Amino acid sequence: MSSFEDGPRQANRWTDAHAGSPVLVVEDERELAEEIRLELQASGHQVQLSETVDDGLRAARSGAAVLVIDRMLHGEDGLSIIETLRGEGNATPALVISALSSVDERINGLKAGGDDYLVKPFDIRELTARVEALLRRGGDARQTRLQVGALEMDLVERTVQRDGKLIDLLPREFALLEYFMRRPDRIVTRAMLLEDVWNFKFMAQTNVVDVQVGNLRRKLDPSGGRRFIVNIRAVGFKLNADT
Ligand code: CA
Repeated sequence: MSSFEDGPRQANRWTDAHAGSPVLVVEDERELAEEIRLELQASGHQVQLSETVDDGLRAARSGAAVLVIDRMLHGEDGLSIIETLRGEGNATPALVISALSSVDERINGLKAGGDDYLVKPFDIRELTARVEALLRRGGDARQTRLQVGALEMDLVERTVQRDGKLIDLLPREFALLEYFMRRPDRIVTRAMLLEDVWNFKFMAQTNVVDVQVGNLRRKLDPSGGRRFIVNIRAVGFKLNADT
């Protein structure tokens, strides 16, 4: 099956190394695919559409800046595209979009090599924001280092530095900080942390998140003078990118 007709090329305001590669959207619901295409193009991105696993895989191999992949594609699971690409050493960042919303499904998406997971129905602006976050990360989806402001994380050595000084973190604190550092300046809710860092499937009546965030804060900034992780009242937390 062939790709949908591509839209007109637009001036791309993204000037990074991926400016020449399109965002590849693999989605078999044409109406939604068109909506995504129009929205991304309006934000200055080139978009290529595809609607099957085979066609999406081919298009991804020939070069894409970011992949947006639906899970259910004419009876096949879009995750197989990501798994195949990762197996070939292709690390193009991938956003999985799916009506499958359970925590298990989200974890499956990430295990398959997806970098982010967005549950349908979603606000199209949310999708654009997530795609742009992946574009900023660039083609090195399997990053080995994260840097946010004064914080630096080595994902291979499992070390964290603040202003070049090593900070000793417990494994859960490390996972928690990694979660924040992958989402700088974005609101992270307690539910997200419980599901994604603790793998709790139900909203437990627990203050474990607040306790651990408190511990992490003290380790990052024993003096308490800098605010790396701030509370967002009644919602959750946010890692400040410029602290
Ligand atoms: Ca579908």
